[in-house]
Amino acid sequence: MSATDLMDKLVSLAKRRGYVFQSSEIYGGTGSVWDYGPLGVELKRNLKDRWWSSMVHARDDIEGLDAAILMHPKVWEASGHVEGFTDPLVECTSCHRRFRADMPEVENGQCPTCGAKNAFTEPRLFNLMFKTFMGPVEDSSATVYIRPETAQGIYVNFLNVQGSARQKVPFGIAQIGKAFRNEITPGNFIFRTREFEQAEMQFFVKPGEDEAWFEQWMELRMQWHLDLGIRKEKLRFHEHGPDELAHYAKKAFDIEYDFPFGWKEFEGIHNRTDFDLSRHQEFSGKRLEYIDAPTNERFVPYVIETSMGVDRTALVVLADAYREEEVDGDTRVVLALSPQIAPIKTAVFPLVKKDGMPEIAGKIDADLRAAAIPSFYDQSGAIGRRYRRQDEVGTPWCITVDGETVEDGTVTVRDRDTLEQERVAADQIVAWVRDHVNVN
Ligand code: ATP
Repeated sequence: MSATDLMDKLVSLAKRRGYVFQSSEIYGGTGSVWDYGPLGVELKRNLKDRWWSSMVHARDDIEGLDAAILMHPKVWEASGHVEGFTDPLVECTSCHRRFRADMPEVENGQCPTCGAKNAFTEPRLFNLMFKTFMGPVEDSSATVYIRPETAQGIYVNFLNVQGSARQKVPFGIAQIGKAFRNEITPGNFIFRTREFEQAEMQFFVKPGEDEAWFEQWMELRMQWHLDLGIRKEKLRFHEHGPDELAHYAKKAFDIEYDFPFGWKEFEGIHNRTDFDLSRHQEFSGKRLEYIDAPTNERFVPYVIETSMGVDRTALVVLADAYREEEVDGDTRVVLALSPQIAPIKTAVFPLVKKDGMPEIAGKIDADLRAAAIPSFYDQSGAIGRRYRRQDEVGTPWCITVDGETVEDGTVTVRDRDTLEQERVAADQIVAWVRDHVNVN
C-alpha cells in the first residue's frame, strides 16, 4: 500500500464510519478545519483522559488548570508571539496563492498549485495569530488574540496554582485546550489544521536542575506513546539544531512519527529556561519568583515543557493501527487500536434472531453500558460481516450469544487481533472486559 493510498483510505474510513468529517461540509468545507464524529470524539477523549490521568491523577507533583482562550493582549507581547510568531511567506504571481517559503516545491521554484516556474514574490513575514475584538468597539484598543498555544495560560497562573495547591518546586501544571494558528499551508488531514487541541505540561524546576528533568521528561513521554502500543520503529527523537530552536528554547527535542508523508513531529519537549516567567515579570510588573522554604532563596524557575498535539496524536494512532489483512481468502480492514483508547470496547451480537438470543444479547449490551463500557448491539446481517464492521472501527472484542448460551449461560468473546474465541460466563462479561482494558 503506497503512502497516498494509506492517507486516502484513512480519510475515507474516518468519514464513512464517523471518526472525522470536514468542517461545514455542506457548504463545500472550511480550509483545514475538521469535526470529530461519534467515534472520533470518543477516541480523542480517551487520548486526553489517558494523558490527564498519567500527568495529573497518577502524580502528586502536577496540578491541572483550564485557562481561558482569550487573554490580556500584553501576554502575547511578553511571550514574543506578536513580534516573533511569524513564518516567511511567498505569493505565486500567477495563481495568487500563498505558501510557506520553506516548502520543498517553493524552494525548487515551482508553484505547488498551478505549476508556474519562478513566479514567486520575495518572502514576507506573516503572523500566525488570529486576532479579534473584545467588546463592542472595533478599534485597536480592543484587539485581542486567540491563543496559539495553551502554555501562556499556565505561566500567568504560576503563582495562583503554586500558592493555592501548596506545591513546592519542582512541580508542574497541566492543561488541555484548543489553540489556533493561521497556518499558511495546512494539510495532511488532521496533521496541520488552523484549530487544534494541545495537551501541555509545564514543569517548574530550580535552575541547574533543568537538564536532568529534561532527560527524565523525554524518557517519560516516549514511554507514554510506547505504552499506547505505537510501533517502536515508527517513533524517534529529533533534536532541534541551532537554526530550528524557538526564541525561548535552550534545548528542544521533537517526538516524531513515521507518517505516510514522512517523519514529522507530534510532540515537543522544550527547555524554555526562565524566559517566559521573566518576560511576564517584566511586562506585568509583578514578581513571579519562587521562594525556597529552608534557605529563603529566591529564583525564577526554569520550565521544562511537554507539548503534545491531540489531533496529531489521533492521526498517529489511526495511521499506526490501520491494517489490511487476508483472512480466509477475504481482505479485512482492521484498526488495531489499543483497547484503552478504542471508541467502542465491545460489540454484542445474537448469532440468530430467535430462541431468546436477541434478548440475552440486549441485556449484556445494557449491562456493559450501565458499567460505563461503550458497547454496540448489532443483530443485522451475517456474523462475518458484523465482525468486519467492528474490525474496521477498532472494536477489540465481539461477544456472540449462540445456542450454547441458552443452555449454559456462556458467550463467545472474539479477539479482534488474534481472531481467537474464548467462552466466558455471560454474567462475568463486565468484569472480564474491565480486566482486559486495563491489562492491554
Ligand atoms: P510545526 O513545526 O509542525 O508547525 P510547531 O513546532 O510549531 O509544529 P509546537 O509549537 O511545538 O509545534 O506545538 C506543539 C505541538 O502542537 C506539536 O507537536 C503539534 O502536535 C501540535 N500542533 C502545532 N501546530 C499544529 C497545527 N497547526 N495543527 C495541529 N497540531 C499542531
